[in-house]
This record gives sequence, structure tokens and C-alpha cells, in this order.
Amino acid sequence: MPQPLRATLHGYPRQGPRRELKKATEAYWAGRSGADELRAVAANLRRDVWRELAAAGIDEVPVGDFSLYDHVLDTAVTLGAIPGRHRRACADDPLDGYFAMARGTAEAAPLEMTKWFDTNYHYLVPELGPGSVFAADSSRLVEEVREALSLGVGEVRPVLVGPVTFLLLAKPAPGIDNGFDPLTLVDRLLPVYAEILADLRAAGASWVQLDEPALVQDQPPAVLNAVARVYRDLGALADRPRLLVASYFDRLGDALPVLAQSPVEGLALDFTGPAAANLDALAAVGGLPGKRLVAGVVDGRNVWINDLSRSLATLATLLGLADRVDVAPSCSLLHVPLDAGDEQDLAPEVSGWLAFARQKTDEVVALARALREGTDTIEARLDANRAALRARTASALARDPAVRARTAAVTAADAHRDLPYAARAPLQQAALGLPKLPTTTIGSFPQTDELRSARAALRTGRIDAETYDARIAAEIREVISFQEKAGLDVLVHGEPERNDMVQYFAERLDGYLATRHGWVQSYGTRYVRPPILAGDVSRPAPMTVPWTSYAQSLTDRPVKGMLTGPVTMLAWSFVRDDQPRGETARQVALALRDEVADLEAAGSSVIQVDEPALRETLPLRAVDRAAYLAWATDSFRLATSGVRASTQIHTHMCYAEFGEIIAAIDDLDADVISLEAARSHMRIAEELAEVGYPREVGPGVYDIHSPRVPAEREVSDLVDRALRAVPAHRLWINPDCGLKTRGWEEVRPALERMTAAARRVRQELSRPSSDGPGA
Ligand code: GLN
Ligand code: ZN
Repeated sequence: MPQPLRATLHGYPRQGPRRELKKATEAYWAGRSGADELRAVAANLRRDVWRELAAAGIDEVPVGDFSLYDHVLDTAVTLGAIPGRHRRACADDPLDGYFAMARGTAEAAPLEMTKWFDTNYHYLVPELGPGSVFAADSSRLVEEVREALSLGVGEVRPVLVGPVTFLLLAKPAPGIDNGFDPLTLVDRLLPVYAEILADLRAAGASWVQLDEPALVQDQPPAVLNAVARVYRDLGALADRPRLLVASYFDRLGDALPVLAQSPVEGLALDFTGPAAANLDALAAVGGLPGKRLVAGVVDGRNVWINDLSRSLATLATLLGLADRVDVAPSCSLLHVPLDAGDEQDLAPEVSGWLAFARQKTDEVVALARALREGTDTIEARLDANRAALRARTASALARDPAVRARTAAVTAADAHRDLPYAARAPLQQAALGLPKLPTTTIGSFPQTDELRSARAALRTGRIDAETYDARIAAEIREVISFQEKAGLDVLVHGEPERNDMVQYFAERLDGYLATRHGWVQSYGTRYVRPPILAGDVSRPAPMTVPWTSYAQSLTDRPVKGMLTGPVTMLAWSFVRDDQPRGETARQVALALRDEVADLEAAGSSVIQVDEPALRETLPLRAVDRAAYLAWATDSFRLATSGVRASTQIHTHMCYAEFGEIIAAIDDLDADVISLEAARSHMRIAEELAEVGYPREVGPGVYDIHSPRVPAEREVSDLVDRALRAVPAHRLWINPDCGLKTRGWEEVRPALERMTAAARRVRQELSRPSSDGPGA
């Protein structure tokens, strides 16, 4: 007998309508309020969300998706996976211990933080070793289940990270050999999950959701075996709630048959984007007889209204493939802002295309209702939805004929420079006349409180544009004069006018929208307001030329023009879903190409186009990567290939693992690439050498992520190391990344030591007897 169709969610934004959680948490950290106040704010926010969801028509609400900092850290605490150095603090005061793990203290370093799959959310990386022991602590979840039940909000479903994903996300604790495989701990971990499940059942939960997003990545047989084993064992427990294993962000692939055959009672699958392949895969395994399917048909990661008719068609097919089908977003709504209705400044035309968490909740409820009670019960809604989708397609904002004509006319030659690097290099050397091992920085200098408050004052009208510009000009003079004194060879203007490397350009390009309240959690109490790439992109006017030219007018040394590349412009925005990303990237690339041309015409002989997001946007499934890298590199080259051979194109990326994109880095054909390398001891320089990378490289010799100022010797040691991999005539000396998060008191000595180290190594290289590395 098919069971009734219902509406549910994986998770909801936690911050509150006006980021109340951020304010309360920061007040607690600053000692301005007590733990009870913070707990009260948190409990109120949870209550408000549950009531809101129940009132909206969600039949089963998530519990435990709320977090004071991060849900992976919460699961680690629930499992007792607390690093040794934090155990004492956690025992003394669980709340302070929790924040200490997230943020570190004078005595104990925090857990490492990294991106949650291919989203812009960051989680804290659990640390495990062969000696790790686990201990169940269900107190937070049990309390929240009780809170929710006491509100009478319908069914409640506790959520926690599943055992396989938890182990796969973990890394060896400090001092533990890198070869340690956390998966070997599964035997020790399962009894702890068993205890938690029993506690949750006792508290009144009839279902528990175990999130296993790691299973949408390609996993070797050992992991698939672990999945089979974990869910067989958890399934066999006598005292447990029913289990819903949730996957999202992509298709389940080989893990689908494994989970379909397991004794768990339900699966939540994503049916949006590339994960739509789950539909055929589900049919191929014969569906989920006897199981519940939570169908993620509303994209939980973008901001566009759902095509309700299309979702209904998908759901109609799915109804035949499981015992019970419920409607849900594809993943937690954590990744979208709260309420599109809050955006009063947007044209009403555009508001009609947007769906944030509240609107997505309504979509899920409407879809469930249509399936349960008949499509005619939401006929008016379907009509309005079709009209909105049609209006979006027809809108002049979405389609600009001039942009379309231009992208259609792009030729392969446009995305290639006229001469190969080998022929460009001597021309650039002649034009720039740089010394061996030229020194430079990545672009930004400290974003001081003064700069930030000047920007805030401009926004609120406390100062006028002229005063603000004078402030920026003064900062640029300061930055240029410091670099000259410190002896840097290729200067930067310091980016003082930029709030954010994507937002700054988004505000200056047509086709992008800005929100007023569209906050999305990045990590902890850090929220970002990603711009919305809503329509065809064009550049009404030059974006960076005036400040760059001003900086160049102050010095005889070359000043790098500084732009954000097309892939990063997409990665840190909400991107339109009505055309392939590659097409959108191409539009952005053409706008940047014009900016590059204008910079060159205004006298810039060195132009850097940053692509720090190239690696993080890599599709989760390996088979999808070649197509992504093709449009990604193509759009970079389209942006940068219009220049003269003597104009030097730089790019920058910052992360430690380049392995999978090393061929793509080569494909960018940038004359110079600067990379993060200090923390990984120059591994990237060696990797590039191994593949015979032919162009210039600046592996970072100064770790800007720490306030520590390196000694000159440390820097020159890293330079020596780099020289073993990269010959001197192709090596640049620069920090790991931009300096915007550092203070001048660190930046000044660090850069002085960096240039001193460069001078010293240059001298060593030029000594006639020298047969040193790279000579
Ligand atoms: N040019 C930017 C800066 O220096 C690059 C930042 C980044 O790589 N994330 O800040
Ligand atoms: Zn960087």
C-alpha cells in the first residue's frame, strides 16, 4: 500500500532572519553576554524555524541541523571524537571547549577548516588516529528532539553526519602518519552510533537521518564495502529508529545499489543537475521496494524558482519506484539565503524568479500537495509558476542580444595568444627588464579598520564619494611607496577599494544582482552575501582602470593590473540555471577581456587574473571533470588572450592540492602563475617540474595564513627548495596569497625579509663559482 506523500527538509538556515545567531555568538565570545543568553537565543531560533516550517506545511521537520558553529563539529562532539589537546577544556566547559575546537585558544590550535564538498560552506575537519576512542554524547540531539516535540510541530527527524562520511572527512591527527586510514576505525565507531540511535528513539524520534554526501564522490571498493557493512550492522540493531540515509550534491553512482540492498528504511536522493542521473539509476536497480524515498527535486543550492511542472513529472515517475515518496529540497537549505521576500530593492520582475529557503519550502509543500491531492489543487500556482519561468526567459535582463551576438562570434583563435610562451618570454623580459627571481605580491594589502569604516561611511552617506576616493588614493600612495622602499620589483596597488574580489566586479557588471539580506553561512559566524548572476553579462564601463593607472603614475616600476577570473566570478556567486555554466563563463570572460584591453591601453604591462576557485568547483564525479576544465580554461584564455605578446599575464591560485588540475594549469597558458606553497614545503613546484611545466612560477615563500613573520632564512630556504624544481630564469618570489587579512605590522617585516632573501639568493646565483641549484 503506498503511503501518503509528505513534505520534508534536510536542514534550514540557522542564523535567524537578521543574523541573530551571529550577533549572540560574537557577543558571547567578546564577553558581552553569558552562556545562558546565547543558549536562549539559539533555542528561540530553533523554535521559530520549527514553527515556521510546520506552519508552512512541512510534515516532518529536521532536528539537529541547527548548529552553534558547524554541523560536522557537532557530530564529532556527539561521537566523542575530541582531539586530545581539547579534551580538558571540553570536560571543564562543553560550550567553551566546543568554541575552542572551532577557533583555537592560546594553548590549543583549532581543528582545520575546509570546504564542504563543492559548496562555499566550510566545516571543521575531524582528527582521528589509531588510538582514537569514541563515546556517545546524545545530549544535544536528545534535548533538541524534546524541544521540537514539545512544540507539537509534527514528526521530527534528527540529523547527523553518517559514519562513512564522518570517517572519510576526517584526517590523521597531528603527529599521526599521513598513511593512517580513518576508515579502519569503523568497528569502534558503530557501537557509538548504535547507542545514539537508541537514545534518539527513546527520546521519541521514529526516523533518524544519516547524511552520507561523501558517497556522491567516486569511491573505491573498500569504501563501498564499508557502506554495506555499516548499514547492515546498523540495520540489524534491535533498538533503533528507522534510518534515512541522505546523499546530495550529486548522484550516488555505485553506492546506490549498495544502499538499495541494505536494510535501511529510506534513502534521500538528489534529482537536480547532474544528480538527475539518480532517476535512471534508481530504475535500473529496480527501485526501492519497501523503502521510503525522499526525493530532492527542488535545488537546495541555487536561488531560482523551481519548474514545478517538471518536478511533478519527475515525482510521478518516482512514485512507481518506491514504497513511499516524500518531497524535499536536494540538500539542506543552509546554502541559500533565508527569504527572497526580504529583497525590497530588487525589481519586482526579478523577485518573481527567486526562491530562497522560505520560497523553496513553499515549493516543496506545493509539490507534495499536488501529488497527494491532485495537480488541480495547485492549478493557479502552476500557472503562476509557468508564467514566471516564461517571463524570465523572455526578459531583457536575462537575454541581451548584443551579448549573445558577441559570444556566438567567438572563435578558437580568440582564446589563444598569437605567440607561444617561448616566443613571448623574451619580449616580456625586454619590455619589463626585471632582475632574476623577480619579487611581487598577490594583490591585496591589509584591509585596515580605517578602510572598512570608510567604506561603511560611504554606504551610509556619512562621507561623500570624493572623501572616500581621497582615502583610497592615500592608501594606494602608501602601498606603492612601501613596496618601492622594500625593493619589490612588480608592484600592486593593494586593492584597498575592494570589499571582496568577486563582489567588487559583480557590482560593476550588468547581469549581476546584489541582495540586501541574502546572507549565507561561510563558516562559524562568517556569512557572505553572494551576488546573483541573473542575466547576460556585460561591462558598462572600465572597472579597475582609474585606480590601476593612478598607482602606475606614482612609480617607474610595473604595477600589476588585478582582476578576478571568470571561473571564480561564477564560483562565488549564485549562477543562472537556464543555460550551461560554460556559456555564462564565456560572457564574463568577454567582459574581462575588455577590461584587460583597457588596462593594457592605459599602460599596464603586467595583468593578473586570479582564479582561486578553479580547483574547488571541480565536479565531484571524475567523469564530469574534463568538460568542466575545458570551459574553465577556455574562459580564462578568452579573458586574457587579447593582449600583445609583450604584455605579461599572471594568474594566482591558493590551495595545497593541485594534482587533479595540473594539466588545466598548463592549459591556462598564463605567463606567470603564483601558487600557495609555503605550508606544503614547495610540493607544487616539484609537481609542476615533474610534468614539465614550461612557464614562470611563483610558489609562495611566505605563509600569509598565520600572523607569524618568517625569518629571512626560512624564506631563502624555501627559495632554494623552489630552485631545485624551477630554474632561476622562470622563478618568481612572492607570498602564498593576498595580504588583506594581515596587519601592516606583520606585512612590513615579512615582505622586507622576502626581498632581502631574494637579493641574497640572487647574489649566490651570480657568484662565478656558483654551481648552486638551478644555476
Ligand atoms: N588578488 C587577490 C588578493 O590578493 C587574490 C585573493 C585570493 O587568491 N583569494 O587578495
Ligand atoms: Zn590566494
